[in-house]
Amino acid sequence: MNTDKIIKRDKKYVLHTYARSPIVIERGSGMTAWDADGKSYLDFTSGIGVNALGYADPQWAAAVAEQAAQLQHTSNLYYTAPCTKLARKLCKLTGMDKVFFGNSGAEANEGAIKCARKYSVTTYGPGRSKVISLVNSFHGRTLATLTATGQDVFHHDFGPFPENFGYVPANDLEALRQALIPGDVCAVMMELVQGEGGVVALDADYVHDVAALCAEKDILLIVDEVQTGVGRTGTFLASQHFALQPDIVTLAKGLGGGLPIGAVLMKEKVADTMGPGSHGSTFGGNPVVCAGGCAVIDRMDDAFFDNINACAARLREGLEKIPQVEAVTGLGLMVGIALKGGRKASEVRTLCEHHGLLVLTAKDRIRLLPPLILTPEDVDTAVQILAEVLAELPADDQTGA
Ligand SMILES: *Cc1c(COP(=O)(O)O)cnc(C)c1O
Repeated sequence: MNTDKIIKRDKKYVLHTYARSPIVIERGSGMTAWDADGKSYLDFTSGIGVNALGYADPQWAAAVAEQAAQLQHTSNLYYTAPCTKLARKLCKLTGMDKVFFGNSGAEANEGAIKCARKYSVTTYGPGRSKVISLVNSFHGRTLATLTATGQDVFHHDFGPFPENFGYVPANDLEALRQALIPGDVCAVMMELVQGEGGVVALDADYVHDVAALCAEKDILLIVDEVQTGVGRTGTFLASQHFALQPDIVTLAKGLGGGLPIGAVLMKEKVADTMGPGSHGSTFGGNPVVCAGGCAVIDRMDDAFFDNINACAARLREGLEKIPQVEAVTGLGLMVGIALKGGRKASEVRTLCEHHGLLVLTAKDRIRLLPPLILTPEDVDTAVQILAEVLAELPADDQTGA
């Protein structure tokens, strides 16, 4: 099937909830994707932070294929080795005690909210069910996680929403202190680097103070590491940059190396309040998906992280030298690029595609989430293409910058 036919068919039969680029991705290898016309692209998106090992990593593909041929699924009424293996690896890497597996980031956050409410009601009784999140956050598209998402643009037309959610501005400790005074809060949920909100890292001092405040009142700290987790920021969890030990951590995007997975990691005291029947998922902990997750984690040795950190530093340095770049934000290989002169991120994205580079946007910024296996040469190529594209694109406002 050619590109036009696929796009026409998609427009006819697939619900139009995505603003897609007119590109049909057909196959990939490592850092490179090919479209249906045979054009190649250097991929600095990882399918929005998902393909941690790039496209079709041979070891990952073999692990997944082997597991699919042996046992593709059974119900959660039985034990399977891949699920237990992945859970053990995650606990060892993060210092958390127990894992619940689901299928997506939203589902992981939904599970985290349930765990927090269960812990609170079991420990303190009713009246303490509120979840506080940050303005400009993104936690998912299910009704509860949409409610927790502190951006009104996503809320229009979908109410009524579940009750007892509240928002405070990021980096404003006093606002959080005020929000906790009524005593009805069970959890504070936050991203350490707001991804969809524009690739904005929280202040380290603020994060420390939030953790201390929560600990003092036994309010659970839920850190949404759906985007920041699994090596993305140069440590396995972004929480490690902040020397943070949350009560609950959620993971998803990069964890399966391209297969759908979500995970709620929690401390013992939270896990102790959840029992048989309190939560579940038909596909959660699926053996094929967990085999993929194990293959991702098994690659993450010291050299793997050294490469992430070296490439991240090189990328930031290269981008900061581009005259049209106002600022480079984020952490590790989660990179936001603010542009001078009112240049539009969406236009830059389209021009990059013409030049054979895939990039993302977040709000008015370019966003880069390259596969974690990139090389310094890939970094240089991406920086060069971005520099060319930005030099081509005239300023959109009167500043002439
Ligand atoms: C992507 C994302 C989600 C939602 O994940 P889905 O798998 O799309 O449900 C939640 N939180 C954060 C921080 C994300 O980046």
